[in-house]
Amino acid sequence: MDVADVSGVPPWFADHLRAEGIESLYPPQAEAVESGVTDGESLVASVPTASGKTLVAQLAMLSAVERGGKALYIVPLRALASEKREEFSIFEEHGVSVGVATGDYEDTGEWLADKDVIVATSEKVDSLVRNGAPWVDDLDCVVADEVHLVDDPGRGPTLEVTLAKLRRINPALQVVALSATVGNAADVAEWLDAELVDSTWRPIELRKGVHYGQAVHYGDGSQQELRVESGEKPTAAIVRDTLADDGSTLVFVNSRRNAESAAKRLANTTKGRLDREERQRLAELAEELRGVSDTETSEDLADCVEAGAAFHHAGCASEHRSIVEDAFRERLIKVIAATPTLAAGVNTPSRRVVVRDWRRYSGEAGGMQPLSVLEVHQMMGRAGRPGRDPYGEALLLANSHDELDELLDRYVWADPEPVESKLAREPSMRTHLLATVASGFADSRAALLEFLDQTLYATQYRDGGGTDNLERVVDTTLEYLEANGFVEGGGDERLEATNLGHTVSRLYLDPMSAAEIIDGLEATAEPTALGLYHLVSRTPDMYELYLRSGDDEEYTMVAYERESEFCGDLPSEFEEERFEDWLSALKTARMLEDWASEVDEDEIAEEYGVGPGDIRGKVDTAEWLLGAAESLAGELDLASVPAIREARKRVQHGVGEELIDLAGVRGVGRKRARRLFEAGIETRADLREADKSVVLGALRGREKTAENVLEAAGHQHPEMDGVVPDASAAPEEDESAAEDGRGQANLGDF
Ligand code: ADP
Repeated sequence: MDVADVSGVPPWFADHLRAEGIESLYPPQAEAVESGVTDGESLVASVPTASGKTLVAQLAMLSAVERGGKALYIVPLRALASEKREEFSIFEEHGVSVGVATGDYEDTGEWLADKDVIVATSEKVDSLVRNGAPWVDDLDCVVADEVHLVDDPGRGPTLEVTLAKLRRINPALQVVALSATVGNAADVAEWLDAELVDSTWRPIELRKGVHYGQAVHYGDGSQQELRVESGEKPTAAIVRDTLADDGSTLVFVNSRRNAESAAKRLANTTKGRLDREERQRLAELAEELRGVSDTETSEDLADCVEAGAAFHHAGCASEHRSIVEDAFRERLIKVIAATPTLAAGVNTPSRRVVVRDWRRYSGEAGGMQPLSVLEVHQMMGRAGRPGRDPYGEALLLANSHDELDELLDRYVWADPEPVESKLAREPSMRTHLLATVASGFADSRAALLEFLDQTLYATQYRDGGGTDNLERVVDTTLEYLEANGFVEGGGDERLEATNLGHTVSRLYLDPMSAAEIIDGLEATAEPTALGLYHLVSRTPDMYELYLRSGDDEEYTMVAYERESEFCGDLPSEFEEERFEDWLSALKTARMLEDWASEVDEDEIAEEYGVGPGDIRGKVDTAEWLLGAAESLAGELDLASVPAIREARKRVQHGVGEELIDLAGVRGVGRKRARRLFEAGIETRADLREADKSVVLGALRGREKTAENVLEAAGHQHPEMDGVVPDASAAPEEDESAAEDGRGQANLGDF
């Protein structure tokens, strides 16, 4: 189908597509149009990665806008929200306004009311519905990207309930659900009353295989020699082989750490194979990367990129990621070692894909677990650049003949799993039932069940006892919510959320976390920072650190030493499970305390056995939970509000109390704040009026940094031209001259 033949979309869209090099629709896209996606029909599109799902979304949204409507695009990851926003921003030239809903869970984003297209995560949309964002009622078209994630036990139920609520608000809503190829797309279509496009079409052939020994064994039974030299790793051999043919490779690994170490090793393979011009351009890129943030990650990434390799994971700053993605698409960077986030949604095709790790650590299973076929196929789908490569190639790696057979069976010849609703689990039920009652979607048990009947869970388990199971979970959950004072009524009376219940729902807390926080705060008049960090760490909303061998004893000791600081009573050692939990939370709390006491990031990483991204994750979560604790304490009129606020600010910036103000200036961060403080600049106001040579001295003569910081503080003349750094303000050279900046990481800098 020629792009000019698509009806319903704005008149400028065909030219826009042609300018992008798109002359005609891919077959699944044409099928979507024939199914009425540009006429407001709901649609489930289950198609392989890189087969043009984004365009299907655009067709739906732009035709809705053309009809005078408003569209919402739900992304699975925060990082993708800004990416999609950028992608859609081109439409603004044609008068289609685009906004992205991020930020606080409590914000209703009223400014989004006059946007035509809104991008948000499912959690954000859920919270917008809870907080009664008025524009939600005006939506005509909703796109759910990566809808197969309803299968995810952690986040799936939110997407599922959110779609059910949006459809409840507007029964005529057009829902366009985009999915990777799954085993049961028809179930999803039935749930959403949608047309189905279920296709395996790809724009470029994909050859899947397993490397074992000195050859690649393809799924079709053929083999091709690919020699691994002695002392060489198979991944390096594949990268070398691909480079010899002027191609690039994406390597998927199972952790951020592994991504970094693989990139460092693969840099040795790419380094000697760059021409002069490439070396020069990569050196420029490396400089750019170093300028993004003053962290070890930034430095390490720049070192790799200089040699033609890169790593990519959710712990990198978003600027890092986009620089790396662009340079990879330009074929300047020859190999990226990535965690699976890169497979989700980011368009980075590559000649070859290597799925190096097909197992990943799972906390729930307590050990390594194989990845799902769906996930592996999504990674594999990134292979092959249409129009550039004759075909794409995706490889797994085997160490033995048995493993070769296993991998062929498990991933190369296998079909992806069906998606299954995870809604009927208690943690998600607690949260979603309270929210459903609090936002007025149901005022009785019967109404709740009726609402839940619109979920995928109901579609999938209606037969075979699923309904009974659902009723059972609903009953236990309602009892729990009532016992904790979050809902009242029920039976013959109207079922309602209490004031506290409303607050909990608005704060986006698991009701069980709220109950724990309330108990702890009510038991303590003057909580310490550690006590508060511990309190939020023991809620189900915080993923606790694991106790390693030996930790048990150490933290039992700490627990008794600091017993008076806990919010609530230390459980008895005889209550083994609770006691263990308490210790894990203590380990997490101590990590947060170290962070808020300016301990270097690499020291923390070493001490607690975590990566910088994990520290950031814990810090983010603690900040949010402490904010929620502050609101709950306010609601309950407790005297601990200021103490909670201080503990929150300290963890937010990773600094002692006296640096809170300074560290709040953009670009300052914890290390720089300390250096400025030592040079006599103690507050944001001091910085605004500061002597520039002192600032430059304290910031080790880095002019660009000093200018940015001064500008952020509101200094009248931040320019550093001709300013001489004041040597007496320079921080003393400690043992870490080479490590400069390691602990600098500000939130978002990792
Ligand atoms: P998916 O979301 O399915 O993984 P994308 O929407 O990112 O895939 O599309 C992959 C690439 O294919 C993009 O670069 C996009 O511009 C390109 N593309 C999409 N549709 C067409 C088309 N009809 N003709 C040519 N290229 C297309």
